[in-house]
Order: sequence, then C-alpha cells, then structure tokens
Amino acid sequence: MKKAYDLICSVRELTGIFRQKTNISGLLNIVVKLVAKHINTEACSIFLYDENEKNLVLRATAGLNSEFIGKTRLNIGEGITGMAFKMKKSINIARGSADPNFKHIPGMLEEKYESILAVPIEYHNDKLGVIVIEDSKPGYYTKHDVRALNTIASQLATFIENARMLLELKDGMKEKFTNNISLDRKFFKGRSASTGIAVGKSVFLSQTLKSKYLKTEKLKYKETLEDYESALTKTIEQLELLQSKMNENLSEAGSLIFAAHLLMVSDDDFSGKIRTYIKQGSKASQAIVNVVNEYIDFFSKSGNINIQEKVIDIQDLGHRLLRNLACQTSDEGDYSGQIIVAWTMLPSELVKLAAQHTEGFVIYGVGVTSHIAILARSLNIPVIFLTDPDIFKLKDEHMIIVDAFQGIVLLNPEEELIEKYLNNRGIKESETTVQTNDYLETCSTKDGKKIKIQANINILSDSNNAIKYKAEGSGLYRSEFLFLIRNNFPTEEEQVLVYGRLLNTIPDVVFRTIDIGGDKILGTSDTNELNPSLGLRALRYSLKHVDDFKVQLRALLRVGSGRELKILLPLVTGIDDFLRAKEVISLAMKELEEEGFPYNKNPRIGAMIELPSIVYMIDEITKTADFISIGTNDLTQYILGIDRTNDKVSDLYIPHHPSVMRALYQIAASANKNDCPVSVCGDTAADPDMLEYFIGLGIYSFSMDPRMIQFARREISRMDLKSAQIFVKDIISKGTVNEIENTFSRRMKTS
Ligand code: PEP
Ligand code: MG
Repeated sequence: MKKAYDLICSVRELTGIFRQKTNISGLLNIVVKLVAKHINTEACSIFLYDENEKNLVLRATAGLNSEFIGKTRLNIGEGITGMAFKMKKSINIARGSADPNFKHIPGMLEEKYESILAVPIEYHNDKLGVIVIEDSKPGYYTKHDVRALNTIASQLATFIENARMLLELKDGMKEKFTNNISLDRKFFKGRSASTGIAVGKSVFLSQTLKSKYLKTEKLKYKETLEDYESALTKTIEQLELLQSKMNENLSEAGSLIFAAHLLMVSDDDFSGKIRTYIKQGSKASQAIVNVVNEYIDFFSKSGNINIQEKVIDIQDLGHRLLRNLACQTSDEGDYSGQIIVAWTMLPSELVKLAAQHTEGFVIYGVGVTSHIAILARSLNIPVIFLTDPDIFKLKDEHMIIVDAFQGIVLLNPEEELIEKYLNNRGIKESETTVQTNDYLETCSTKDGKKIKIQANINILSDSNNAIKYKAEGSGLYRSEFLFLIRNNFPTEEEQVLVYGRLLNTIPDVVFRTIDIGGDKILGTSDTNELNPSLGLRALRYSLKHVDDFKVQLRALLRVGSGRELKILLPLVTGIDDFLRAKEVISLAMKELEEEGFPYNKNPRIGAMIELPSIVYMIDEITKTADFISIGTNDLTQYILGIDRTNDKVSDLYIPHHPSVMRALYQIAASANKNDCPVSVCGDTAADPDMLEYFIGLGIYSFSMDPRMIQFARREISRMDLKSAQIFVKDIISKGTVNEIENTFSRRMKTS
C-alpha cells in the first residue's frame, strides 16, 4: 500500500490544533496522532530534552502506553531514541527486536513494533528532542519516510520549543506546590548498577537505623525459658544453614559473613543476659527485646563505622529470635520478597543481604560506585542508585518495582503493571539463555585473524558464566573483591584456597593484585580521602602496605607452583613503581624459598595501562613488562580528568574521546614494536566500534564481562582486518568527539 509520506502537515493543519480545548500535553498528543496519520504508520511519539534532568522524557505518544507520558526518561545515547538525539542523526531500524541499541521498557507496549525511525528535532541548532515513529511491519520505512519525518520535525520545531519550555515550567511549579513529599509519586529515575527486575515490598534500612530499636510484633510468643532455649537452637540452626548456602554460592566469602550473628547468639553475655532477665520474671520476648536494644544502643553510639554496621546484624538476630519464639519460622532468609532501600551499602552488606534472598536494592548515591556495581552484576541482583532523597521519606511495606534494565524505581505500582513486569522478567531472562550449542567457542575476523576473548572475573561464581559463554580463560581476575566482600584481609591460607579454586576451574587466569582505594574502599579502611581516585589506590596502596601485599603475592606464587602464573599490577604509574613491585615479588619468593614452600619461580608480571603517566613511558614499560593490559575504564577517567563514578559529569566520560583514541594508538604501536603481549580488559572491549578500532590497532586479545563474550564474538566475525586498519586511519585523523561519532555511525550503517 502506498504510504502518504508526501502529505506533510500543512500550516493550516498545525494552527488548527491550537483551537482544540486542551492543555499542552493534549496538544502534543494531537500532533503525534497527526504525524502518525500522515506517515501512515502505527505509532508516533515525542521525547523532549529536559534541561534540569539532562535527559529525554516521553511527552506525547500515539500507539505506546500513554501512562508512561512524563515518566519514561532516557539518558542521552540510551536506546535508539537517545542515540538519535546524541548523534543528531536520523536512525532507521528495520527490526528493533534484533537491534542491540533497542531499549525495551516493560509495559510501554513498544515490543509489538519492529520498524523504528527516530529523528532529532532541532531548533536553531539546539537539540530539542526526538520524534519517533514505529510500525509492527519490519523494514517498513523507506528513505522517503526518513526525509518526510525530517521535514515534519523541522516544521514542528517552533511549536515544540515553546511546548517544552511551558511543560518544564509547569513541572517546576508542580514540584514547588507538592513540597517534595508525595506518596502519590510513583516513579524515580536513577542509575542502574546492574541489570534485572525485582518486585517486592520495601524495607528501609535508613529508617531501621533511625527507629532502630527492636519491638515485639503482634505475634503469639511462647514465653518460658525453655521456649527461649528452643528458639535459640532454631536460630543457630537457621544461621548455620544460611552460612553453608553462602559457602556454596560465594565460597570466597569464607565463614565470616554470618559470623557476627553466630558469635552474638552464642555469646554468654548476650544469651546469658536474656536468660537472667527471664529467670528474674521477664517474658522471653521482652527479655530478647531488652537485650537486643542494649546492644543496638551500644553499637550505634560507636564512632567506628564497622561497629555501627553491626546494628543491622543485631536487629536481624533479634527479629529472628522473636519469630522463632512465636514459631513463625521459615528456612528462608529474612528478605525474600523484599527490596532494600538504604542510604549506604558496603560490599560486605550487599553480599550478606543478597544471601538472605533480597530481591533488589535501591541505594542513595550520586554515582554508581564500581565495587557495588560490579558485585551486583556478579551476584546477578538488580541494584539502582538514586540521587533523589524523596524515596527515603517513605515507610516500609510499599510495593516497589526495581527495573535495573531501565534504571527506574516504580512505587506502589498497579497490579497490572506488576504482572507485566513479572512476565517480562521471564522474557528478559530467557533472552540471555540461548542454547549452549549455539555458542561460539572461539572467533576470527572474516579474513581469518584469530581473536582471543577471555572473561573478567570478580567473584568465583563468575567462572560459571565464563565456562557457559566459552571464555578462553580469564584476562582479569579482580582479586580485591575477595577483600571487599569480607571487609578485611583474608589470610595467606584463605587466599591460597580461593586462588587455587579459581585456577582449578579456569586454568588460564591473569591475577590482578588488589585494586583497593579510589571508589573501592574497604569498610575497615580508615582513609577518608578528599580525592580518593587520586589517592592511595591499587599498586600505590599495596606498596604502602608491603606486608599485606607480600601475603597476596606469596599466596599467588604458591598457587602458581607447577603451572603458568600471570600477575597483573593495577594503576602502574611508571617504571619505578613497577620495578618496586617486582622487588616485593622477589622478596616473597625468597621467603617462600627459605620456608621450603613450592612456588612458581618464573611468574609473568604485567602492568595495567590506566594512567596518562604510563602512556608517556610506554616504550620503557613494554620493554620491561611481560605483558600489558589496557584498563580503558580508568584510562578514560584519568586522561579526561572525569570521575568515572560521578553522575554529574557522566556525559563527559567519553571512552572514544580523540585523546583516548590517540593514547590507545600509541600504546598498541609500542606493544607491537616491542613484542609485548597486549590486551584490553576495560568495558570498551565489548563495544563493537571500539573492538574494531582495537583490532585495527593490532590488539587481538580481550577480556570482558562473560555475558558479553558471545555478542563480541558475533560482532568480530563480521569484521575484517583490512577494513579495521582503514577504520583506525580514519579515526586517528579526527580531532573532535563529533567527528569520531560520525565515523562510528557511518560504520554502523555500512556494516
Ligand atoms: C579498567 O580500569 O578499565 C579496569 C579494567 O579496571 P577496573 O574497572 O577494575 O578499575
Ligand atoms: Mg582500573
């Protein structure tokens, strides 16, 4: 059927709109209907740029779920719409469901559409927003449609510019009058630390801490000393069970995760005191409440953050004892069906609460700290960071949806929406479970260049994914997680156990020594640095704590006995600290020799390239190190001077910035000249444009989140070495981010 793309809106038609008795949103909705009619397509929506929030908000739609108007927000570059806005380019997608940029928003009813055409709306060179049309027929839009929608977008620009200003003004006024407290607020936009969907009742840890004292609930307690003893036995059994489950799933956490609970419960000061109160005539439930509250008082008054942290443990223990006293027990952890909302969260707490079956987390924070993000991904648990403190004014027991795919939190959603989310959760999960037979074991470019893809491993259980997705070993084991989830330094023997277990599962592993400091802070750490990422971090930390460093090196050297051992040093500044670290390695070897331990006498020692300083020394380091690994996450942060965890500048954190691209060029050239094995282990290793660039530079080894391996392999098998080299020549001549992005999008279109 012929499409009516040539029937662009006439001025008369547009002015006619204003005669309708409606508000601005209503007008915009009429406009989208009109455009859909003109293009003869099923859906049309308008997203407008919000100056305050610095993102795109859905302002009108015909064809999508209108409940999402004013609620759905997309970051710049997010989804096809966000990408069209960012690149100031029309994007025409023939099959949305197969496009990696397609952002599925559950409940928005977008899944029925395949063809998507997104066109930026500009006014006097200012980007106002994006107009998007969609249709269920794949490959529906022709280049004539692209031209037609572009014309419509420019026709609508003045109208839209005014509508946008008025809508923002109205939003601001609404905010003033609602005084920021609103139980009827249903939507919070945050930043995802991981992916996934969680549905459950809210538990506000911040409130628990404020009204932190334990109270009896409306339960029928059994109140004698014998009842207390059996509740105590039951509690110990439950904790032991929880601990053993934890050991199965997160073996490196050791026996310490529930140690505080178990210690307190078997401590005579605690249990004995409860017994004494009961013997003096107190009801068992009241005796528990009194003693638990005495402990809460004591812990919360401590100036030590680690002791304060124990308030949660003791509350937890108190609840458990009370529930067992009322015979309201289950073997489940405490937080099944619940979403934890907290002001702060230590990695060790996250691990513990995850082990207690928490469905998801909402954490307050200006940026996604990388250890929580990485841990959340490894634990496969949805976590969202919110900068909006409103949610913390609410009480427990609100129904919450955590949509970490989109970075949104929905409060008190309708039953129907919950249903949709629960159904979609299934779809999302099944999307990632492709038949094992379909997985590529290795990959090469079209012209036969073999590319090695390894997995980044943070906690031992990541090795399951590494095996599942056919990683060729691990190019980055972030050993600091072993320390972070315990919140202390594991002993040499404990480290030997964990490293050995990893090597037994995956024979080829690059062990990075601890990268602690920066945003990966141990709870026990007493450092409170003003500029943590410029502070005592990674190798600098290890060289300042040589005894702890030596313990880790000894453990690695022992585990490496009789097999190949690769040790990677993080955040190397230059030759001096690299050589200094090698001296400590020699010292550790000497000690092991004297003590008669078998150990690896010839470990390969590599340097992470993450700092501009090392780029200036690249020739020396590629001659000195046994291998190098490029940490593009930090390299970008330090070259651009942009905090990788700070939301306020996240739009300026550009891993393909020309200066980063040129640094990468120099690093690769030097490594190849000096025959120094080089790989990339930062997040950009899984970005198709960057992958092609790296391959063109002569880097043929990558390490990434195991879940990205199959995607990367498929992308690589569509590339060829010759064009990748031409791509590099093209990119390296570009001086602005814009030019680089244009070159990227050209590549996207031609491939
Ligand atoms: C990097 O900086 O790119 C990297 C891989 O290290 P991390 O993300 O652990 O800092
Ligand atoms: Mg790094």
